[in-house]
Amino acid sequence: MKEKISLDEAQELVLSAAAPLDTERIDLLEAAGRVLAREVLARDFLPSFRRSTMDGYALRSADTRNKETAALKVLAELPAGQLPSVPLEPGTCMMVMTGAPVPEEADAVVRREDVARNGALAVVPGGIEAGTNIQEAGCDISAGMQLLVPGMVVGPGEAAVLAAQGYAEVEVYRRPRVAVLSTGDELLDVREPLLPGKVRNSNRYMLAAAVQEAGGRVLLYPSLPDELEASKEMLTRAGEEADLVLSTGGVSMGDFDLVRQALLETADEVFFWKVRIKPGMPVVAAVRGKTVYLGLAGKPNGALVNFYLLAGPVIARLGGRTNIFPPVVEAALENGFARSSPERSRYLWAVAGYQNGWRAALNEGGELAAMRGYNALAEIPAGSGPLAPGDMVRTILLDRHSCRVAAPA
Ligand code: AMP
Ligand code: MG
Repeated sequence: MKEKISLDEAQELVLSAAAPLDTERIDLLEAAGRVLAREVLARDFLPSFRRSTMDGYALRSADTRNKETAALKVLAELPAGQLPSVPLEPGTCMMVMTGAPVPEEADAVVRREDVARNGALAVVPGGIEAGTNIQEAGCDISAGMQLLVPGMVVGPGEAAVLAAQGYAEVEVYRRPRVAVLSTGDELLDVREPLLPGKVRNSNRYMLAAAVQEAGGRVLLYPSLPDELEASKEMLTRAGEEADLVLSTGGVSMGDFDLVRQALLETADEVFFWKVRIKPGMPVVAAVRGKTVYLGLAGKPNGALVNFYLLAGPVIARLGGRTNIFPPVVEAALENGFARSSPERSRYLWAVAGYQNGWRAALNEGGELAAMRGYNALAEIPAGSGPLAPGDMVRTILLDRHSCRVAAPA
């Protein structure tokens, strides 16, 4: 077991124990947010026929060559989805709708607005160029081309591509099952009345939300007393039912330190204890069988930082994603930060936005109060002194759409 390691090393160690899970076939309508497990190739040309990009008249451009205007006989009106039933003879045209197939003999479509109708005749401008307002079959997607690769997340665009190619079902990775358990004799559930010296179990609800946000399935376990045998038993049971076990508390120095002890006695390997970050230093990682364990800090703030920096990438990897780390930008601090960060990198909840460059406003407030409305974690490297407004900080963009996203001016 390594101690007090860097975040990079901690991520590398814990990710070494996480491999993509098995896969399942699901309905395309259920696939939003899921991760593709197979390469998807195009079955069909798209569009599958030569089509008009405008409402207008399909014609032979030769009929308009060297003329001011040409009067063409309107043979038919083709709605979308209909094929022409008669050939387009010279001197004739057909009315077509946007997206409709263009008759084989036509090589141009003139916009409806540019045509004067005179009974059965359409008077079109002269000198129409071949190809005008026509899309060739396969100009978007050609059959056989690689459309999607494993690890891609199915979103609206991918769903459209899959549907357009006739894929009603897709093979995706199973969603990681993530056990959430808390430790501490002081914990009360959310429904219990507050008692002197006790603390409401906020980590349970925080992590349940975090796991869902990260695409995992939450398995909730009762909170544990500070008791070694009970901890060993529950951690083992959770590990048999989950792909990743997240516990909070019981890992700090001077504490009963039960989670670390329980993992030392039950896991195949304990990778590390303590990472050089603030908050969230006393985090422990282990593996038993195929299950990864992260014993997160007890304090909510530290536990959530641990979640984003360590558990999130593990869930992403288990779930088959190829992009497992959130994007990072260099952002100018809106507000300063008075304290220095001598020994450990510090992570602060922030609102990042782009306005003449990336900006990050650090959230004010105490431990829990600062964890509201954030969409980023600002990273202040170890060895930094106090920071002034305008100083540049690495800022981890967290995938949160629901919060305020523009940095205050
Ligand atoms: P520990 O690492 O178990 O000593 O916990 C550190 C601090 O975090 C203590 O003040 C605990 O009361 C607090 N804490 C631990 N678990 C939770 C929890 N599930 N919800 C809220 N606070 C907690
Ligand atoms: Mg505790």
